[in-house]
Amino acid sequence: MTEAQRTYFLRTFGCQMNEHDSERMAGMLEAEGYVAATGPEDASVVLFNTCCIRENADQRLYGNLGHMKALKDKRPELRIVVGGCLAQKDKQAIQERAPYVDVVLGTHNLASLPRLLRASETEPAFEILEQTEVFPSALPARRFSPWHAWVSISIGCNNACTFCIVPAVRGPEISRRSGEIADEVVRLAADGVVEITLLGQNVNSYGRDLDGTPMFSKLLRVLDEIEGVERIRFTSPHPKDFRADTVAAMAECRSVCEHIHLPLQSGSDTCLKRMKRAYTRRKYLDKVTMIRKAIPDVAITTDIIVGFPGETEEEFQDTLSLVEEARYDAAYTFQYSPRPMTAAADLPDKISKEVVQERFERLISLQEEISLERNVRMVGGTQEVIVEGVSKKNPGRLSGRTRTNKVVHFDSDGAPEGSFRTVRITGGHPHHLKGEVVGTSREPAPRRTLKLPLISSPASR
Ligand code: SF4
Repeated sequence: MTEAQRTYFLRTFGCQMNEHDSERMAGMLEAEGYVAATGPEDASVVLFNTCCIRENADQRLYGNLGHMKALKDKRPELRIVVGGCLAQKDKQAIQERAPYVDVVLGTHNLASLPRLLRASETEPAFEILEQTEVFPSALPARRFSPWHAWVSISIGCNNACTFCIVPAVRGPEISRRSGEIADEVVRLAADGVVEITLLGQNVNSYGRDLDGTPMFSKLLRVLDEIEGVERIRFTSPHPKDFRADTVAAMAECRSVCEHIHLPLQSGSDTCLKRMKRAYTRRKYLDKVTMIRKAIPDVAITTDIIVGFPGETEEEFQDTLSLVEEARYDAAYTFQYSPRPMTAAADLPDKISKEVVQERFERLISLQEEISLERNVRMVGGTQEVIVEGVSKKNPGRLSGRTRTNKVVHFDSDGAPEGSFRTVRITGGHPHHLKGEVVGTSREPAPRRTLKLPLISSPASR
């Protein structure tokens, strides 16, 4: 196969961290001369960047690999690569279940992709490391959006939530130097990026491993000073580490969006204890109150697990009552499934599928009522929206997103992706808003922060 024919097709499963890593995988391949293919059929390399947080992620990967077998039989020169969390956890299983896979690499050695791909020309190259070689953000990236970028501020996690496999597959928390992060954001802004999402498993503990104290709020203030970046988002904070200094930075920094994703998981103190979440229902609700007081019209979203081992009806009722009180704009609800390498997998008193399903439906129905109420309240007001593209259901309409992270559909005025529109909200639904364009440009809000020096000089770890 000639250089000119080298093409890749990349499929990403899972969370935003995987989206970020996939942009790096694509960037490294493009630096080697590969170009993107439209599908696996016309690619010389097919990559799967996997996730193992949820059970069906395994099934989806093996389903996809099953389809690749026929393609590999037809074109033995095709290279199949599996990376990400599932590869980190399951190298052996992938070898056994899909022996035609050419390259397996884990979460700690993303940078090895070009080398392993070259090595696989003679024999399969499987390599999993226990420690990170190169911070993934330092690798070349091919961004999938011209106006939005993922910016990783830390990798790994030092917590021990009993349902979560992340610490086992992503390792302990390592923060990236703030100067390095700021440099990346300056480059992104110069490249036309108007919105960034800061990524970390627990963004609020950012910096603890660098200077012994969390520095997330300082980082927000530093990044807010960078010209050109109009919106800063972050995911995810851990409620136990979410403090007043972060809320103050959010309230004061003009580019930090009025949206917080604050994962709850359960509203019951006893269940939270079994989950090892290190906060109580009361402490969580106090943080919600603090946020709402400081940031009027903030949108708060969450994650909730239904059917954690031993969850009683009473404990579930505590979750429902907390949802009533917190008034989330949206909740990502999950039915518990045991993950290998997690403490909860060994807990007794698993909840039957029927009970989990019935609780799940009650929770969704309550949350939909609240989401509807929150969205209907916005009708008649105006929102600044970034256009994300043509609506999937109606090519005559555009879809955009408010600063509060709500999706708005409106009649197209031909606005290109990444442009700003002022939209009057005309309808509220549980999962989206409807609106009409009333303005085509915006004046940036005045800066409200003091000039601050960078926290530390650029340095690589
Ligand atoms: S904070 Fe808990 S849920 Fe989040 S990544 Fe760490 S262990 Fe997993």
